[in-house]
Amino acid sequence: MLPRTARRVDATSRKDPQERDTVSAESVTTRAAQGLPRNASLSEVSRAASACRACDLWKAATQTVFGEGAKKAVIMLVGEQPGDQEDRVGRPFVGPAGRLLDQALAEAEIERSEVYVTNVVKHFKWSPAERGKRRIHKKPRYSEIQACRPWLDAELERVKPEVLVCLGASAAQALLGKDFRVSRQRGQLIESSLAPHVIATVHPSSILRARDDQSRHEQLNSFVQDLKQVARVVKRSVH
Ligand code: SF4
Repeated sequence: MLPRTARRVDATSRKDPQERDTVSAESVTTRAAQGLPRNASLSEVSRAASACRACDLWKAATQTVFGEGAKKAVIMLVGEQPGDQEDRVGRPFVGPAGRLLDQALAEAEIERSEVYVTNVVKHFKWSPAERGKRRIHKKPRYSEIQACRPWLDAELERVKPEVLVCLGASAAQALLGKDFRVSRQRGQLIESSLAPHVIATVHPSSILRARDDQSRHEQLNSFVQDLKQVARVVKRSVH
């Protein structure tokens, strides 16, 4: 019988080349994050992540977009991946979805200084538009989310948020399991070892894709209600 590692390599070799690259590179990322001293600061982890090559997503992206915000934030918001503008600027949630998030946080009376924002995947995955120069968002694969997970775990370990908020299905399913349905469980407190309180809601980009103004307005309202629930949880647990 082959040793465990050899069996894994053998199984990997049957996958398509891109998948093979991604899967074999998982151990590289894991090593990259685990190789950090236990007391490495959040900035040191961020610097290490900027050189990450553990899956193929770095190749077409401009840079790693690590999380940012208060180092001991009470609330951590986790989205799927950086978008076009985030990729160019190198900061999370600075594009249209980020502006909508800021508006919703303000309406829910959550201070940005209380919040740390990040994504389950740190590089922008995209494909070129059929016409023009637009870069179209592509959903990351499960293996890419897994490859990037050590960076998110490193952020969670250091920030230690009181409330973890998953924004959208990709983040919720990555952190809470593949069967999690945001449509059914949004705004509810979820039992999880990741943080004392865990809640999932929609990603602000889904509100931007609403079919008309009325629908956008209703979806934004529901999003603000979910964030108000987060604010109530924070008040109960911190004060
Ligand atoms: S997406 Fe994550 S795992 Fe893949 S190269 Fe970027 S930082 Fe590394």
